[in-house]
Amino acid sequence: MYRKEIKKGETILSFGEMGDCAYIVERGTIRVEDKVSSQESYIVGPGEMFGEYGVIEEAHHYSVAVAEEDSLLLVVTQQEIEEKSSAADPMTSLFLNFFMDRCRSLTERHYGSDRHLSCSPSRRSKTSGKIEADRAELVQDFQIKEELERAVQNEEFVLHFQPIISLRGGFTAGFEALVRWDHPDRGLLSPFHFIDKAEKTNMIVPIGDWVFREACKHVEPFNRMAAEGGSPEVFVSINISAKQFAVPDIVQQFRDMARETKVDTSKVQLEITESVLMEDTSHAKGILHEIKDLGFQLVLDDFGTGYSSLNYLHQFPIDKLKIDRSFTHTMLNDEDSLEIVRAIAGLAHNLNIEVVAEGIEEREQLSLYRDLDCQYGQGFLIAKPLPLEKVYEILGTRMAI
Ligand code: C2E
Ligand code: CA
Ligand code: CA
Repeated sequence: MYRKEIKKGETILSFGEMGDCAYIVERGTIRVEDKVSSQESYIVGPGEMFGEYGVIEEAHHYSVAVAEEDSLLLVVTQQEIEEKSSAADPMTSLFLNFFMDRCRSLTERHYGSDRHLSCSPSRRSKTSGKIEADRAELVQDFQIKEELERAVQNEEFVLHFQPIISLRGGFTAGFEALVRWDHPDRGLLSPFHFIDKAEKTNMIVPIGDWVFREACKHVEPFNRMAAEGGSPEVFVSINISAKQFAVPDIVQQFRDMARETKVDTSKVQLEITESVLMEDTSHAKGILHEIKDLGFQLVLDDFGTGYSSLNYLHQFPIDKLKIDRSFTHTMLNDEDSLEIVRAIAGLAHNLNIEVVAEGIEEREQLSLYRDLDCQYGQGFLIAKPLPLEKVYEILGTRMAI
């Protein structure tokens, strides 16, 4: 979206021109004249729109628009409308999609199909094919959203906990809480089957709230058990989606949930991804500092997979970073990958940030991370994500490293 100043008498739409954007009048008046059917003209003022057919379909304008006075227009492109529409709630998207299509067929009936004549046929058929595919996907999203809403209401989610050990002493330092969906028909589903859809439909927000509360509830009993066995205290690490960060009063919500569950926030880590930092850097910085003020620790997850993050890391109050498991899997066979791991570990040490190595499946990987002086390790070699009852079995045990 951008703004365009238009001088009195200037033409904005010309007859026969291809359109791909709509105009919202912010200031001034525009005269729009239908050159084909009615031949009528009308005035469009502040808050009104014209040229909207340019975003509904790729076709030629049958109207002419001229500024009656100096005006200011907001120009909205077809691409922006499509992006906003697909990011909206599935029901809203479906309505928009449907009405756009209604408009298309009405115009075709009104003006005749020659409106498209100079559009190449392949382009047109591709467009209508895409519309059908989009709609089928929207219906699917809509159904999934309903199913996820029901799952939240019926509390069909469960948490598994994957141990994170200290690479210095081998003891359990904490657990990552990982959500599963105990689906009434399909059994226990891994996040792989539903997290993307939950993100897309924004259902990750209520699911994330449930995960947060549930994970916090276990912090005190885990620590009691660890203390009884003479083991050091343990943290619980919770994944927070970028969508949760977009909720306007997110900090207040974390504060309320922490109070409600009476959790010791210093034993809770929040795992965020680089996308949270990149979206609006200064906004993210403010929120992260407020979250730190509540006592939580912050962990940067999947480190190394996103943007070239090394430059901005020092700007954020990050306590730990997790080297993504893709590096762990390749570093023994791939020199570049090993160099990246070395560089990340070195940088983290210089910035006083602790390192968690993810996805450790082999002894050699564990040894290498220990030699690089990374503080924590997590992976199938140590333990898979465990159901709650198994957590109590391993609390207090020590791995020989
Ligand atoms: P993640 O945050 O990177 O979580 C670690 C994932 O790696 C887990 O998969 C875990 O089972 C898997 N993993 C652990 N050790 C190993 C290993 O040695 N080898 C391999 N190949 N994989 C290992 P899981 O539980 O399927 O979770 C997948 C992703 O789903 C998570 O990736 C996270 O992005 C997302 N997720 C899980 N729970 C939540 C949640 O509560 N909220 C949000 N927003 N996302 C979640
Ligand atoms: Ca994680
Ligand atoms: Ca990760």
